[in-house]
Amino acid sequence: MTASPDAAATAAGASSASFGPARNLTCRACGAQFPLGDSYACMECFGPLEVGYDFGTVTHADIETGPHSMWRYAPLLPVPADIATRQNLSPGMTKLVKADNLAAALGMKTLWVKDDSGNPTHSFKDRVVAIALSAAQELGFTTVGCASTGNLAGAVAAAAARAGLKSCVIAPSNLEAGKLVTAAIYGGTLVAVDGNYDDVNRLCSEVAADMGWGFVNVNLRPYYGEGSKTVGYEVAEQLGWRLPRQLVSPIASGSLMTKVDKAFRELVSLGLVDEAPASIFGAQATGCSPVSAAWAAGHDVVQPVRPDTIAKSLAIGNPADGPYAIDVARRTGGAIADVSDDEIVAGIQLLAATEGIFAETAGGVTVATLRKLLEAGSLDPDAETVILNTGDGLKTLDAVEPVASPTVTIAPRYGEFRAFAEEKGLR
Ligand SMILES: *Cc1c(COP(=O)(O)O)cnc(C)c1O
Ligand SMILES: [Zn+2]
Repeated sequence: MTASPDAAATAAGASSASFGPARNLTCRACGAQFPLGDSYACMECFGPLEVGYDFGTVTHADIETGPHSMWRYAPLLPVPADIATRQNLSPGMTKLVKADNLAAALGMKTLWVKDDSGNPTHSFKDRVVAIALSAAQELGFTTVGCASTGNLAGAVAAAAARAGLKSCVIAPSNLEAGKLVTAAIYGGTLVAVDGNYDDVNRLCSEVAADMGWGFVNVNLRPYYGEGSKTVGYEVAEQLGWRLPRQLVSPIASGSLMTKVDKAFRELVSLGLVDEAPASIFGAQATGCSPVSAAWAAGHDVVQPVRPDTIAKSLAIGNPADGPYAIDVARRTGGAIADVSDDEIVAGIQLLAATEGIFAETAGGVTVATLRKLLEAGSLDPDAETVILNTGDGLKTLDAVEPVASPTVTIAPRYGEFRAFAEEKGLR
């Protein structure tokens, strides 16, 4: 991996203090360790690298006295201790909504929705970007980018604007209008590629290496992934420092699902929550379900597919963390399933009509998969469950327009309204 000479020099001399409790990059396949820098593949076995830590002691008070954002978990993240005071969007501490109406509709006892549509650019991607951009600055990058299925592009462009970095984000040209507009508005460069996400991702590996830029999900991926841990930390803290019995996460690359599990395990090992079983379930769209298909077949290896689904934010045909997601589901007693585009739309409608939460297609995937797992008996309706809503329905209006239009259109005359109301039995 070649970065700009500046970045390489900074990386070589990076003091561990600028990465908080992080100590190294550790290979997830063979365990080899490397200095904190901008490498993302193991020099020994080409396995993916992840951040290794030395946490020391962290108490509830250390966290609870922190800012009302994901930066309250700075003692558990690869960021400098004063990160909250630096120029960034401070995502996180989104609502954990008790979803009693949805629970009743599904015959469940206790259900919560972790609603990450409340983040600054309306998806959970603000979390991963916040960590990756902190690392980019520590490593001396002045231009940041990403390969995006939609939400990441907007999150990078916005965070770069606020941090005073240049951005170049790359995404498939066939994204929803709402995703392209909310990526372009922040003033960076948006490159639309006539190809799918997997084409974009391949292209970005070359761009990152050649241009010497910090790509949040390519050469900064080890840091990026750590941002997803904060979803798990928040769920546990918001439940009163305990783990939910079951949690359902959408899967694109599989990073979010695996990092929520990593967060839970860290909290247990630090003594911040009691050890308790927490089964983690994965949700995919049938039109892009390589991880679910491998799960159903009992395989550890994920066969790449060509995506075709309305859930474009999850449309990664060759998911980098797919095998790790399977491992998490197996180890925690969870499962992975997939749902059709019609079921996704019905899932969006159900969440909106029961809880007043308008999710994007990925949220529809999660709700519909929850329902499917309940029907299959894989998920216990009586056990406390958390589902992750990762994005905002306003960005994927196209998907629900056919089922969400005015009930009637009338002239501005009471007679017409009255006739309509009577015909519909509105009173
Ligand atoms: C990116 C994304 C996900 C899943 O991301 P992973 O790559 O699996 O970490 C889920 N929901 C939305 C809305 C996303 O944008
Ligand atoms: Zn290795």
